[in-house]
Amino acid sequence: MKQKLIVGNWKMNGSLAANAALLQALKQGLPADNKAGVAVAAPAVYLAQIQAELAGSAIDVAAQDVSQHEQGAFTGENSAAMLKEFGVRYALVGHSERRQYHGETDAVVALKAQAALAKGITPIVCVGETLQEREAGQTEVVVKRQLAAVIHQVGLCVSELVVAYEPVWAIGTGKTASPEQAQEVHAVLRAQLAAATEKAGRVPLLYGGSMNAVNAAQLLAQADIDGGLVGGAALKAADFLTIIAAA
Ligand code: PGA
Repeated sequence: MKQKLIVGNWKMNGSLAANAALLQALKQGLPADNKAGVAVAAPAVYLAQIQAELAGSAIDVAAQDVSQHEQGAFTGENSAAMLKEFGVRYALVGHSERRQYHGETDAVVALKAQAALAKGITPIVCVGETLQEREAGQTEVVVKRQLAAVIHQVGLCVSELVVAYEPVWAIGTGKTASPEQAQEVHAVLRAQLAAATEKAGRVPLLYGGSMNAVNAAQLLAQADIDGGLVGGAALKAADFLTIIAAA
């Protein structure tokens, strides 16, 4: 069976003390026979701490964003090369909170994915529709448009992506997409990837949006759901470990 991937997205949460406690608990709680890939996406200021805490463990370091630029006058940004120095393996790109609060367009998200790939960081490309778009029957059009921009930009590297389907209406709301709703969109994304690469089957398609210890197993059992991007539940070691165990 294909390996599942569970990524915790801490968002703007944490402190040196809280991070240390959470990572200790995760390292101790991760069973020796764990088969899932596991990563935590921490705020950039904590990446050095996270890298040190996770050294020698089976948990990978992820960033929550990456600049599309290589270097220079881009105040506040972190380049892929900088992230790489802190052992970052994955970077979220195009999370809906970045699209919504920081005006990231499909084109910017695509450039970020490319910038990450250029430095050997795997982009986790986030796509998803708002409630309004879903109610207007636009879900498929929206997610395909978002993914198409990235596919077009990265060319032959499509098979190196991770894609996360995160319906905006399900993020942080406690309203999860049903396994069927999620699978339906994942199948659309898989078909879109298959049109671009023969290796579409190996691109991990994660579901995100109120995934928790209770609903994870059912979601992860769907044919095209290869893992989870977990927000709130990733801040509690017990919940995150339960999700990992379900994978
Ligand atoms: P949530 O967040 O699990 O708290 O809904 C998921 C995400 O935004 O990645």
